[in-house]
Amino acid sequence: PIYMDNHATTRVDPRVVDAMLPYFTSVYGNAGSTSHSFGWEAKAATDDARSRIAAAIGASEREIVFTSGATESNNLAIRGVTDRARRRGNHIVSVTTEHKAVLDPLKKLARKGFEITLLPVEQVGSPGAGRINLETFRAALRDDTCLVSVMLANNEIGVIQPIEALGAICRECGIPFHCDATQGVGKLPVDVVALNVDLMSFTAHKVYGPKGIGALYVKRGTRLESQIDGGGQENGLRSGTLPVASVVGFASALDLCLAEQPNESHRLQHLRKRLFQALQRELPDVVLNGPEWNTSEEIRLPGNLNCAFPYVQGEALMMSMRDVAVSSGSACTSANPEPSHVLRAIGQTEDLTLASLRFGLGRFNTTEEIDFAAQLVIDNVRRLRALSSMA
Ligand code: PLP
Repeated sequence: PIYMDNHATTRVDPRVVDAMLPYFTSVYGNAGSTSHSFGWEAKAATDDARSRIAAAIGASEREIVFTSGATESNNLAIRGVTDRARRRGNHIVSVTTEHKAVLDPLKKLARKGFEITLLPVEQVGSPGAGRINLETFRAALRDDTCLVSVMLANNEIGVIQPIEALGAICRECGIPFHCDATQGVGKLPVDVVALNVDLMSFTAHKVYGPKGIGALYVKRGTRLESQIDGGGQENGLRSGTLPVASVVGFASALDLCLAEQPNESHRLQHLRKRLFQALQRELPDVVLNGPEWNTSEEIRLPGNLNCAFPYVQGEALMMSMRDVAVSSGSACTSANPEPSHVLRAIGQTEDLTLASLRFGLGRFNTTEEIDFAAQLVIDNVRRLRALSSMA
């Protein structure tokens, strides 16, 4: 099958694997061992990786905290701020379309007495579907707001939020600002200074690096309560022996993204356009979930396409997609598929949500694969419509 689910995860680039290999069998010391060369070499490797990762996002080495991935980074940011005794209050502002790794920690805080405001987003059919409104955002902030968390790019509909402007407003108000940049780093130019963020989560496995390694950017001076305690690694913010090979792989994955990003963005935009145009041409009533991309400002991830196919049953459509790996508009974590909370938040109907497909195009996808996927969808939607009583 063809892999087109690059928002879920990516294949590790063979160049990244090569960079990692020596750190399993040759340089296998503990970066915390200070008494011998095995430790020194491991420390040198993680120091070098840390500075490359920091440079990739415009941060300094001391502002990078390694974690197990973006889920942990989000948890560290959110709990780290809210666990502090000295904070502005118990009110948190976030958005309905955030990833579960933000929404679930917030849900838990709500049970502990925090007040959570989840902002709505622009509705399906508008060119900026999925975006939050700056005025609504500003109006939601209060004197007791202790944290704001907004993602850079959405993992389902690819919409890019105006982080720079949101961050400027937070800074004006003195409110710590966390950004889940998991889907943006490596795919968009990201500079923590320009974005005005205090805390920023990202992860290696979305950028052709290994799973199980991520980072939290912590702007100098941002106070956080640690969540995992022990050996005091990562300035005491995240204890545990660093996975040296993974850290090296993370850095090398980001280096490659950075070097290839402008060209790769154009290539993916072109492939996405080719795919959507083929679908639109042959299936005239296909519905785009999320923002348009032929606007003056690009507010959608280059490799993201999410659309709904009216008059077909979602489950049947998904079943027919065996030869192309994509995601559906439902979270299939249980026996009963639950419609995506993101598509619901943009106002998509339940039927269309279930009949939606998310294509996540990535580095290894070719034009031939795009044409194959388009034809597969077209044939199957036509076939299912012919069978369906809904058409
Ligand atoms: N945040 C977003 C926006 C994501 O897309 C993902 C990916 O699943 C995560 C967080 C979680 O990342 P990780 O798998 O590194 O924990």
